[in-house]
Amino acid sequence: MIQLYIPLNFLGVIYREIKQSLADMERLFTLLDQHREVADAPHAKPLAVSGAEVKFSHVDFSYETKRQILFDVDFTIQAGTTTAVVGHSGSGKSTLSRLLFRFYDIQSGAITIDGQDLRDVTQASLRRAIGIVPQDTVLFNDTIEYNIAYGKPDASKDDIVAAAKAAYIHDFIESLPDGYATMVGERGLKLSGGEKQRVAIARTLLKNPAILIFDEATSALDSRAEQAIQAQLKEIAQDRTTLVIAHRLSTIADAAQILVLDHGRIIERGTHFELLAAGGAYAQMWERQQARKEDATASPSGGIDS
Ligand code: ADP
Ligand code: MG
Repeated sequence: MIQLYIPLNFLGVIYREIKQSLADMERLFTLLDQHREVADAPHAKPLAVSGAEVKFSHVDFSYETKRQILFDVDFTIQAGTTTAVVGHSGSGKSTLSRLLFRFYDIQSGAITIDGQDLRDVTQASLRRAIGIVPQDTVLFNDTIEYNIAYGKPDASKDDIVAAAKAAYIHDFIESLPDGYATMVGERGLKLSGGEKQRVAIARTLLKNPAILIFDEATSALDSRAEQAIQAQLKEIAQDRTTLVIAHRLSTIADAAQILVLDHGRIIERGTHFELLAAGGAYAQMWERQQARKEDATASPSGGIDS
């Protein structure tokens, strides 16, 4: 279990750090329930998910009063479809996912899920509905079984094994000296970036959320591992409402919708082919990445966000 010996005044700092990285947020909210910057409204109801349509309506947002980060951001992720967000580092992509989790309240506009404003639903129900496969998965110093089951503590061993199989990590786990009871994390067996991501995928499969967020990994994985992970992410995104923060454009070419974010504004939107045909910012990014791929025997990474 999580150790609660941290002095209380450090919790705020840790909260901000973790919130920033989006890693581990499920643990975070059990741990730091009282330290939220946003509170449930007195009338808050549990979120009732039907198709899980996500809608950002004219959202303006700033972390600090002087510096606006998002400007009139307006888009809908149709129920069960994938929307990808691309854009340079600092353009506000991760901020969108933080807002969908309601880590912060927006200054104007609205964010809704199936028509329910995030400010009107309980945070616990909101966070149950959303699963995230973060860029960098933090493992707890506990067994690999605990790490997979985290987020669904009542999961049976059969469920855990099924999730591990679906995430293609079961065989690896079985090959470990203590199998599912193997200690992992900082003080246990160190897993590779790809293995950690598979644990995160298994965890997410077990949680079975209606809405998924992927902050795509870049440098952590070699390109073969990344291709395998991408294929899996695609599989679990099938028929779920999914927000992908994309670094490598080739991984999102089949998204129902691609948004190009630039300094907090959506400057282009459409499918991959529509955006290529439009010949704008997306088409340029695509060309740059293709060019890099061609002379990329030296460097396999073609991320636009690095
Ligand atoms: P991206 O994911 O596209 O790289 P982010 O959404 O993380 O960008 O950040 C958008 C902008 O918001 C950046 O300029 C970043 O410096 C700023 N920012 C991010 N988090 C905070 C924060 N907690 N406080 C103040 N500014 C922040
Ligand atoms: Mg980011």
